[in-house]
Amino acid sequence: MSAASSPVPGLDPLRARLIERLPKAELHLHLEGSVEPELALALARKHGKPLPGDEAGAEGLRRSYVFKDFGEFVRMYLAISACLTDAEDFAAIVVDLARKLAAENVRYAEVTFTPMTHVNRGVTGDTLLAGLAEGRARARTEHGVELAWVFDIVRHRFAEGAPTLALALEGRQVGVIGLGFAGPESPQWPTAPYAPLFARARAEGLRSLPHAGELDGPGSVWSALRELGADRIGHGVQCLADPALVEHLREHQVPLEVCPTSNVGIGLYPALAAHPLPQLLAAGLHVSLASDDPPMFATSLAEEYRRCAAAFGWDAPQIAALARNSVEHSFMPAEAKVRLLAEQAAVLAELHTLAGAPPM
Ligand SMILES: [Zn+2]
Repeated sequence: MSAASSPVPGLDPLRARLIERLPKAELHLHLEGSVEPELALALARKHGKPLPGDEAGAEGLRRSYVFKDFGEFVRMYLAISACLTDAEDFAAIVVDLARKLAAENVRYAEVTFTPMTHVNRGVTGDTLLAGLAEGRARARTEHGVELAWVFDIVRHRFAEGAPTLALALEGRQVGVIGLGFAGPESPQWPTAPYAPLFARARAEGLRSLPHAGELDGPGSVWSALRELGADRIGHGVQCLADPALVEHLREHQVPLEVCPTSNVGIGLYPALAAHPLPQLLAAGLHVSLASDDPPMFATSLAEEYRRCAAAFGWDAPQIAALARNSVEHSFMPAEAKVRLLAEQAAVLAELHTLAGAPPM
């Protein structure tokens, strides 16, 4: 049994059932960081590539998925990426991700993908887009999961910014909805040089979806807002150090994609109990829960809900409110949003009645 399916202590059956039954959306999830060890191993063997810990098989690989720091995480991430070569590989990881999402009743996900990691290894843009298109179509037909893509720029590789944007624009026909910004978040790699790229992306209808306030403080979040016109902030947990920033995020209703287990996994906080999620919510910020790189942090979206509900004492309406936020903060079509929100409300009402509580 994987950690993701272990029972979470302190979670009663009603809340566990609600988390399972709620149709969910996931807004911060990396495709290359979602590859399960078994599939990573199969792809590595297909292409004759090594993976850290692979001599002990999938279980050995799963143990190597546990990181001490961000650098170690990036090394595994790149080793797995190196095993992705042809369109079938990309389609395979998309379909496998959709299978896992469907198993947890996640109906929609905005999935981040880093095209230049693969283009740099000689994979063509056409191959990438063909693999994503096939995977996305099969996710819909085989698993009932709707996927949208965020193509991200790695911030210390400036020369890759323009080709990433070009691929993202081309990829709109296969579901690309946003331009992301990730990599080493540090003033050493400033945001400002990317402002023209993000301005163009937004003018062309893509959303600006940068990581900020994860590895660096409030200044990084301000830069993402002012220089990249961020529509949402990936992580943003460090915003609390600046009350003016918190006020700005609240006033302008800028959503934060919060990934608690990932934050603990890379050592930002010693344990979930020390995570600032309760303070972010108490400050009136617009927060959705997300899993980032689920197998690499031994988590999943439902597991984030379970762990947080147990650690922070959320009741059923609070859990449902978080699930509602993910839908509201998403860029899914308006009609789909209305349908999913109605389904969520129906599940909450049904379970509430079963629990003998007054109707909501
Ligand atoms: Zn991320």
